Amino acid sequence: MIKTEKILHLKSCRGRKVRVVREHYLRETVPCYSSLCQADCENDGKVLPGDLTHYVVPDVGVVVDFLEILEFRELQGIVFTQTACQAVQRKGRRQYNRLRHLLKDPRHDCVLFANEFQEYSYCEREKGESQERWQTRCVYSAAVWYHNHLAGMIDVLMITDDQEAIAQYSSLNSGVYVISVQDFLQNFWPDLQAAHDLYSSISQALQEKEGESSQREFSEHLPAEVLEAGIKSGRYITGTLNISKHRAQNEASIMTEALSNKNKDLSWGVLVFGVKNRNRAVHGDVVVVELLPKSEWRGKVTALSEGQGEEKSGEETESQPMPTGRVVGILQRNWRDYVVTFPPRDGTQSQSRNSQRILAVPWDHRIPKIRISTQQADALQDHRVVVRIDSWESTSLYPNGHSVRVLGRAGELETEVQTILIENCIHVPPFSDAQLRDMPVNSPEKPWTMDPAQVAERRDLRETHLVFSIDPQGCEDVDDTLSIRSIAGGKLLELGVHIADVTHFVTEGSLTDLEARTRATTYYLADRRYDMLPAVLSADLCSLLGGVDRYAMSVLWELDAETLAVTKVWYGRTIIRSSFQLHYELAQALLNGEPAEVPELEKLTSEEKDAKLGQLMQALEMLTHVARHLRAQRDRGGALELEGVEVRAQLDEERNITALVPRQPLEVHETVAECMIYANHWVARKIQEAFPHQALLRCHPHPREEFFSQLVESATAGGFTIDTRTNKALADSLDRAVDPQDPLVNRLLRMMATTAMSQALYFSTGLLAQDQFYHYGLALDRYTHFTSPIRRYADIVVHRLLTAAIAMDTGAEPGKTLSGHKELDEMALHINNKNRAAKRAQKLSVELFQCLFFKERNPQTDLCCVANAAIYAIRDNGVLVFVPEYGVKAPVYLKNREGQVVSAGQDGSCEWQSGSVRRHSDHISTSCICGTSTFRLFEHITVRISVHTTNFHADSLHLEIISNKPHSSAEPQQPRSQGRSQLVQAVVRLAEEASLQAQEREARGSKLSREEREYRQSKSPNLYSLLEEVRELALMDLERTAQVCATTA
Ligand SMILES: [Zn+2]
Repeated sequence: MIKTEKILHLKSCRGRKVRVVREHYLRETVPCYSSLCQADCENDGKVLPGDLTHYVVPDVGVVVDFLEILEFRELQGIVFTQTACQAVQRKGRRQYNRLRHLLKDPRHDCVLFANEFQEYSYCEREKGESQERWQTRCVYSAAVWYHNHLAGMIDVLMITDDQEAIAQYSSLNSGVYVISVQDFLQNFWPDLQAAHDLYSSISQALQEKEGESSQREFSEHLPAEVLEAGIKSGRYITGTLNISKHRAQNEASIMTEALSNKNKDLSWGVLVFGVKNRNRAVHGDVVVVELLPKSEWRGKVTALSEGQGEEKSGEETESQPMPTGRVVGILQRNWRDYVVTFPPRDGTQSQSRNSQRILAVPWDHRIPKIRISTQQADALQDHRVVVRIDSWESTSLYPNGHSVRVLGRAGELETEVQTILIENCIHVPPFSDAQLRDMPVNSPEKPWTMDPAQVAERRDLRETHLVFSIDPQGCEDVDDTLSIRSIAGGKLLELGVHIADVTHFVTEGSLTDLEARTRATTYYLADRRYDMLPAVLSADLCSLLGGVDRYAMSVLWELDAETLAVTKVWYGRTIIRSSFQLHYELAQALLNGEPAEVPELEKLTSEEKDAKLGQLMQALEMLTHVARHLRAQRDRGGALELEGVEVRAQLDEERNITALVPRQPLEVHETVAECMIYANHWVARKIQEAFPHQALLRCHPHPREEFFSQLVESATAGGFTIDTRTNKALADSLDRAVDPQDPLVNRLLRMMATTAMSQALYFSTGLLAQDQFYHYGLALDRYTHFTSPIRRYADIVVHRLLTAAIAMDTGAEPGKTLSGHKELDEMALHINNKNRAAKRAQKLSVELFQCLFFKERNPQTDLCCVANAAIYAIRDNGVLVFVPEYGVKAPVYLKNREGQVVSAGQDGSCEWQSGSVRRHSDHISTSCICGTSTFRLFEHITVRISVHTTNFHADSLHLEIISNKPHSSAEPQQPRSQGRSQLVQAVVRLAEEASLQAQEREARGSKLSREEREYRQSKSPNLYSLLEEVRELALMDLERTAQVCATTA
């Protein structure tokens, strides 16, 4: 090792230049991470492949400015030098984290070379040499070292945007080439259009940056040390900026947990009013806020706001003044990729043609307009484009950004679906070849067979147990099966739940595992699905199909035949062969004693048939008996039966929705769900006992009492009493709150209860005290997810924990691979975030299809657009209603911007008149010359549904009251598509069949663990697979973004 000195010129935090001399040690061997290495480098971990034509060494400027291009997975063999990494680190944490992620991610072919520690690649800085020159020389020297170290077996390409460097180095060494980024892309990646676009957009943004104005629009952020001292002393408050969805122009608030603990005053957060006070903070940033004097505090607006994002001024009712502050600094930028729309360019905007600077409008109302420099402004009009924000200077009213890629024309289905994915940070590229190479093969030429070693190790249930599955019709990914039999001469019952053994195929740390972990869940949109695992697993080898041998993870309970008390539980790996692949309707028909054809029995003689059918019937009956008992047990503990709105979309061959239909429950759904809840509960117990500090469980916290206020108020108005003190009390009082005249009342109350719920969350047992493990909705002391490893990553983690726990029972050491507490905690956070994103995306896609359904119809003439609606909440200027026919929840305004109010005539028909509106707790009334009209909670009214379109954002439904009487129409449930061509009729027939398959039970407290079942599975989407299920999740009150949706399983 050689010692030398390294001289650095750094800037102190006050801006002074400091010269730092550091001791620097050089080594002869520094790993090269190339598979071509002949020098026995210690190349652990990621290694560059040898079968490339060249390696790429980007210089400092390229890494700092064009890192996004280097992130393309197509680009292989990239060597990042230590010199470049340090430069990025100095530039800022956000950029540096990106680079670190890239280097860590095994799906990217790139490595880090510690060039400054390598004796032969290190160059000392020369006297008078500028930092930039020296860095370029270091990177070039590293490139030359690679070429020599790998004995000239591979060419090395240094890429730089420094013309001087190209002139100086390009012909110095053969085999080491120095070219510009643009030449690199043109010569080696001519077809990678996305990279070319990104290059020109970034270079454009860089050029524009040089000529910025200097007039200040915002106050400067305070220096980091001032912020830190202020936070410590309590003068400043820190938290995440949350901009109001409906009043994005003015209202934002800060909410932190620390905040609510310290100061009661602040438990509802701090309001940040107006753009100036927001001081360049973007929704999601972690900010530092200074409170304004009390005289400047204000309240939040409580009226419904029409047309999202468009603010109206003037008379608005505000809540009580609350602590109000202004942003003085930003601790962490949480910028993501944003979808924006390029405005039409014919407007009078002062965007000069030369500068090509466009103010693009983000799809998310909460994000400010972003200034983009582009040469394609005309081509991009009315297109949705993905952009990234680069900076937001105090001299600029808007942040600067650059475009990343074009999604397509606004309003087109594909564009809108991609927009929904990007806005929720959902990245689901097709599985790569490298990932698929990891996978086992199962083809007619090369059928998959069981490994004899596995057969020897596993408990074989193929001969002893009658195993069967119950799923929606056409389901391909069967991840759970059941068995039940009488043992010990009838004294005991043995119940079995057998789950696909996914972790046998997905080893921890493999490419498939990493991809599944990143996705965390399968994503279900209204018309499509993005799988968490490749199809060979999800639809084949992990799918517990009928008549084939499969690996499973099983839980077997021995229950007392009389009392059904558990006498013994067994957990372990098994081999099963499912005898019957039933669907819900078939199983229910068998249970009801209705005639039904079981396909598995078709070919048997009638004698054999009767015997087998008898066995199956007996099993189904036993299962129902046990499940009823389990359900009753949970009911006594206070399990909640909640209400979700479920509708199914029927689509025709052009993806037009022909109907939106609510669906029906069956008891057998509940039976299966109850068994799954039981398995999840017992696995939770097992892993929590084995790993008290590092088990992944799922809790459902007690709801906050104040969130029930709307439910309690509404119920009181309807003459009911809702007791929210415990889940048992709530469940009982909800059961009693029934209006015999109107079944919808109970449903609305359950919907409100759902809205008030907290979210169920994954957590690591090391993080919470045991009394916080409780699952409120299911009334269980411990719960986890074990039964759907094909589509939830949490279940994969739980399977690994269970495997380790079983191994410990036989005396083995807990495996080293087991995640530590901190790691598991991060994992839980990640999965929770992804689940939230999946839900939001699903909800948005349902709304998209709802809008598509109504968009093509004329609201004035099409009868589909007129529907019955029930009022479930009163607001200052209108009411919130629920339309059961379409599962739509939306506001109905009783007062418009012109000051007119809705007035109902004798026959109920409504018209706009000038007048005033008055809100009461259980009703709202309008007065005008014609008299007073009153609209009460739970009353049914008739609404006309139309679509509100703005090119910049998602379309939304607009509901207008046309009568204060219920809508009395013909049966609206029939798909209205008669009289079309033969093909269309065939599709409608299939749609009706699909509707039979998919009648899923309503949101009983338990159903959520199996809700995704309804999505029929298919490897390649065909015409009929579009006839899929959608589930309405729009259970949110308008302003409660914090709670999102309640999930109780
Ligand atoms: Zn080497």
